[in-house]
Amino acid sequence: MGYIYGPVVSRRLGMSLGIDVVPLKTCPFNCIYCQLASSSKKITKRKEYVSAEQILDEFRKFPSQNAVYEWITFSGSGEPTLNIDLGNMIREIKKISSKKVCVITNSLFLKMEEVRHDLLEADLVMPSLDAVSQDIFERINRPFEGVTAEEIIEGLVKFRMEFFNRIWLEIMLVKGINDTDREVEKFAYAISRIKPDKIHLNTVVRPPIEKNVLPVDRFTLIKIADKLGKNVNVIGNLPKIPELGYGEISSAGLLSLLESHPATLDEISVSFGVSVQDAARIVEELIKIRKIKIKRFENKQYYIFGS
Ligand code: SF4
Repeated sequence: MGYIYGPVVSRRLGMSLGIDVVPLKTCPFNCIYCQLASSSKKITKRKEYVSAEQILDEFRKFPSQNAVYEWITFSGSGEPTLNIDLGNMIREIKKISSKKVCVITNSLFLKMEEVRHDLLEADLVMPSLDAVSQDIFERINRPFEGVTAEEIIEGLVKFRMEFFNRIWLEIMLVKGINDTDREVEKFAYAISRIKPDKIHLNTVVRPPIEKNVLPVDRFTLIKIADKLGKNVNVIGNLPKIPELGYGEISSAGLLSLLESHPATLDEISVSFGVSVQDAARIVEELIKIRKIKIKRFENKQYYIFGS
């Protein structure tokens, strides 16, 4: 399986080419809303899971280089800051591509100076903060033992002081867990310390691995956004994307995409720039040979990696 996937359509970024720099579920957390495998093995060691040369080599050969996308996003199947070569990858990608570079992170390693330094040349960093109270943090993110919510907030505060490009903070709200008035007040205070350029309020849209993890309804999301102050966006539906028919879809490409996150048929069609019929043909082939399967969540049908 390759390290580069997409371009995929993202509700936060529009069209984005994904780069995956750690193996599946290489992460110090095991969030209850995670779409990847559930794992009790939490990984905290920074190392060269994949080298910058491997990523750059694949990037140069990747067929979608000229496709319609605005962002190159380091994210995918785990926590990208765990790759010790991330800073080098960002610098080198920016030398060979004019696209903007974004890194999505769970924020834990922002407490480390070397990680903050690695991210300095990104155009945008999208860190997460899902809880301020320690008990809620442990319940929702299920972190490596001994990690505190406060150290995550302190890492974010330090990063804000050193990083002069954009920070869009994501808060993933899960019904009945971190959507209470008390936690929202705490989020407001944490935001006043972190000073992100934007806050994205998100909820559980794609099917999580764990059962009984439910989204917050849109009305409540809007009420919470009002309480959190300005520059807060409730993340909505998929953005409008240019007309289809410019792209191509392959089994390998679709498997790479679904390994990083589940997708509906419409999302697959838009991500690859092909018609729904063409997307459906490859989907059916992969279901037949048991490489992917169907999962229903909140009245939508998703396709997920695995048999
Ligand atoms: S959602 Fe992200 S941070 Fe949470 S366990 Fe999954 S990969 Fe890790």
